[in-house]
Amino acid sequence: MKLLYALGLLAAVCAADLCILRAAGAIGYRECLTVQEAKGFVALTFDDGPHGEDTARLLDGLSERGIKASFFLMGQSIPGQEELVRRMKEEGHLIGNHGYGHTPLTELSGREAAEGLEETSRLIEEITGEEPEYVRPPYGKWSEELEAGVELTPVLWSVDSMDWKLRDRRQIVDRVLKDAGNGDIILMHDIFPQSVDAALELADRLSEEGYVFVTVDEMLVD
Ligand SMILES: [Zn+2]
Repeated sequence: MKLLYALGLLAAVCAADLCILRAAGAIGYRECLTVQEAKGFVALTFDDGPHGEDTARLLDGLSERGIKASFFLMGQSIPGQEELVRRMKEEGHLIGNHGYGHTPLTELSGREAAEGLEETSRLIEEITGEEPEYVRPPYGKWSEELEAGVELTPVLWSVDSMDWKLRDRRQIVDRVLKDAGNGDIILMHDIFPQSVDAALELADRLSEEGYVFVTVDEMLVD
């Protein structure tokens, strides 16, 4: 049974609250909610890391809350941060590819794009033992040529936190809460302290509203 469907079914048929899901290990909640069913599913996604301080603090906060997220790593940021990548894997987060540098893949030759993606996947696999299946193309720029030549599945987003521009916890939180609903993939960046503050506040606020956090592979199942 596909996970989202299974979770939805569980949430719908359980007359009790989400503590049942938590007890079954199906979801991780810091505290049990007293709502009758899940309001919906959302995915928190973080690009451009790993970042020594900000990613570490984010992982601590997500771990305290039992929340899983999706991280799209830049190949050039991985050397020296192997421990953080190991933690992502061990703590159940999804690890995806964000290219090696941050040049839009559509501005590189097909060969350059493929080499950067392959090198990033290789660095991730060296640490986690698993090759990533998903790519978040920098700036969301993707093409039919890439679609045909790259095996990774592209994952864009439906809610842009604009955290890189706002750099303000309150404004980022307000913007996301205004737009986020069931099935949304929220774009953030774990390279700014304000983004980490905002993400952890969003984790609490959306949990209180009854949302369940999933990784993008769980969100993308049909
Ligand atoms: Zn990026």
